Amino acid sequence: MIVTPLTKLLGIRVPAVQGGMQWVGLPPMVAAVSNAGGLGVLTALSQPSPDALRVAIRETRKLTSKPFGVNITLLPSINPPDYAAYARVAVEEGVKIFETAGNNPGPLIQYFKSQGCIVIHKCTTIRHAKSAEKLGVDVLSIDGFECAGHPGEDDIGGLVLLARAVKELKVPFIASGGIADARGFAAALALGAAGINMGTRFMCTVEAPIHQNIKEKIVASTERDTIHIFRSLRNTARVYKNKVAMEVVEIERRGNAKFEDIKDLVSGARGRLVYEKGDPDLGIWSAGVTVGLINDIPTCEQLLKDLEKGVEAIIAGLNKVVVTEGSASCPA
Ligand code: NAD
Repeated sequence: MIVTPLTKLLGIRVPAVQGGMQWVGLPPMVAAVSNAGGLGVLTALSQPSPDALRVAIRETRKLTSKPFGVNITLLPSINPPDYAAYARVAVEEGVKIFETAGNNPGPLIQYFKSQGCIVIHKCTTIRHAKSAEKLGVDVLSIDGFECAGHPGEDDIGGLVLLARAVKELKVPFIASGGIADARGFAAALALGAAGINMGTRFMCTVEAPIHQNIKEKIVASTERDTIHIFRSLRNTARVYKNKVAMEVVEIERRGNAKFEDIKDLVSGARGRLVYEKGDPDLGIWSAGVTVGLINDIPTCEQLLKDLEKGVEAIIAGLNKVVVTEGSASCPA
């Protein structure tokens, strides 16, 4: 067993959190991850209204008795949601674990803390992590440049971000972005993380509520199959490199693009059809560079068991290296 401050705080067996993925963090996905020993996370904004989130929370409870969380991400939106109402409903429903992410999370974090909840805040810079720490978050999720979705604008890869995090942060942190196998998981622990967050890897599981064609597309992909859109709008997002993404990038490259010029191409409503219909070119869909590491479609239980076993074997191997070579000690 891999026991860390994260497993103790959340009451989970494996220190692995499922990322709050738009259109994917639905009750069956969340319950599968939690039942497998990780932390499943419902994506609040994948529900059309706060009342629909209430229903989704109740549905998740029917599928698992294990802890799970709710993600609320604050980013530019075509129809800005009533974030406070989503938050209120989740608290009313007794949710105790929240993942926050995005811009100006202060009021949301303060609200959850005032309600006695555990807050995991995801961010892409050390300065934002330190601000969130001051607001009282319990765990930071440090999101490296490899991640799917929004990596921020600083372009710092996970290796350096995590090494900085361990020096700068007082609260436990988990590693997010670029992790999809036991080596990445063990590396995150070696870098001082109390666990990991995975999104793209969980999309490629039996229980992920997306079309089989998309799972197979991920398996067939390499690490070169993602691209950034919205760079020119300072809302950078890493998405699957398909026809629509290339069209968006082309419009941005011409210069002076406004959101209105690409709005119809990038809308979440259109991206959702990719997962429903199984055509990877129907719209924009988030994917991390880990698409190059994913070669199978296991159940969540098999995935977490294999990761756990793999991490334990790697750590045992490293210990042996330290003992036999006597040179692998790590200066503080
Ligand atoms: P949407 O249809 O409102 O927007 C689609 C994309 O365009 C999103 O990436 C959004 O950030 C971006 N966007 C919207 N308005 C913009 C503007 N004025 N300038 C620059 N970029 C703009 O998004 P949706 O798919 O319906 O999702 C709703 C919200 O959830 C969005 O804010 C989105 O970013 C966020 N989201 C959350 C997750 C998550 O994991 N929780 C993942 C993806 C997106």
